Amino acid sequence: MSKVLIIGAGGVGGVVTHKCADDADVFSEITLASRTLSRCEKIQKQVRELRGREIDIAQVDADDVAQTVALIKRVKPDLLINVALPYQDLPLMDACLETGVDYLDTANYEPPDEAKFEYKWQWAYHERFESAGIMALLGSGFDPGVTNIFCAYAQKELFDEIDTIDILDCNGGDHGHPFATNFNPEINIREITQRGRYWENGEWVEIDPMSESRMFDFPGVGERKAYLLYHEELESLAQNIRGLKRIRFWMTFGDEYITHLRVLQNVGITSIEPIEFEGREIVPIKFLKALLPDPSTLGENYTGKTSIGCLIEGRKDGQPRKVFIYNICDHEESWNEVRAQAVSYTTGVPAMVGAKMMLTKQWRGRGVFNVEQLDPDPFLAELAVRGLPWHIKEM
Ligand code: NDP
Repeated sequence: MSKVLIIGAGGVGGVVTHKCADDADVFSEITLASRTLSRCEKIQKQVRELRGREIDIAQVDADDVAQTVALIKRVKPDLLINVALPYQDLPLMDACLETGVDYLDTANYEPPDEAKFEYKWQWAYHERFESAGIMALLGSGFDPGVTNIFCAYAQKELFDEIDTIDILDCNGGDHGHPFATNFNPEINIREITQRGRYWENGEWVEIDPMSESRMFDFPGVGERKAYLLYHEELESLAQNIRGLKRIRFWMTFGDEYITHLRVLQNVGITSIEPIEFEGREIVPIKFLKALLPDPSTLGENYTGKTSIGCLIEGRKDGQPRKVFIYNICDHEESWNEVRAQAVSYTTGVPAMVGAKMMLTKQWRGRGVFNVEQLDPDPFLAELAVRGLPWHIKEM
């Protein structure tokens, strides 16, 4: 029996709330809080209709530590699940420290005025969390999240030595819009338009944005072109997988998406630099976000599947081994179950599973942890029964 406080009522927040509501033995009381109360009300109504459970809701500006502290003191949760935006990571960690509450998120901190996401800001909280006797679990989504745990599982169960890891992320779905992003547009476009980066022989190698691509055959989807990007799990996995020589991240994009993105970049509307417009200051990418479809509304007519996994090479018992560990998730099935598309689903389910690991003390620690530092076995067993079955293919 435990109480959770979920912050952020977007696409991912809806999925986490539905999935926690399904497991009343562990998540006996749920409060969903977000900046816009009407979004919480919508999810509250869905959970009542689809699951027959009542949840509490609240309005909070999570950038304001004092507001979150007041909310935590009122709700008295055992765990705070942060599925707002990466900008809120540090203020929410501060609020958890002040109140002695455990913390979980799905994306690492990013300063609003600089498109740069790194773990250093959150890792710097380790000693303070340790001495407060509380735990922070970072990156418990799909990627980061499940992909990290696939790597930890490979290290524990499948390999004696791992040489290379390629994380392959394919969304083979169709939402019917000429251009839309599957999660928060601002965060998504900042991620894609930055320089590409991968880790090899102990060093980071940088490339121009979207300058390297390759065809991969994705189970459940087929052949797709994927582009080499920097993605946050590379930073922690490069440290936590022993003897690793190279790790890269690849994501698929259709030609139409790339063309739209190029035009938007060329006209300057993906910029995070404020400009003067009709006597007031606006940030172009925030204006673009207001024009694009809200990711939480894409689900209803979304068809197709996501296929995401880790291609891992190394040795077992002196023999070379190469495996692909992956999950396939169907957009329509996600919609039918929790009224969300598969990108939100594949993020929200691991957040719920990570929360369950912490609340049931299967994962325990004092300080700040990335998911691959914990035992992958109980997490993967729970993941499979919570809607994300996973598979291993010997290559
Ligand atoms: P959305 O934009 O759909 O939802 C974000 C929600 O957070 C919105 O409801 C928003 O409120 C709320 N929010 C924003 N700022 C604040 C604030 N200051 N105080 C309180 N609430 C706030 O995003 P998603 O649901 O798509 O993504 C949620 C998180 O999941 C993001 O951090 C994203 O990076 C991460 N993610 C992780 C993935 C993974 O695999 N690890 C994959 C996909 C996403 P409002 O409605 O008022 O704007």
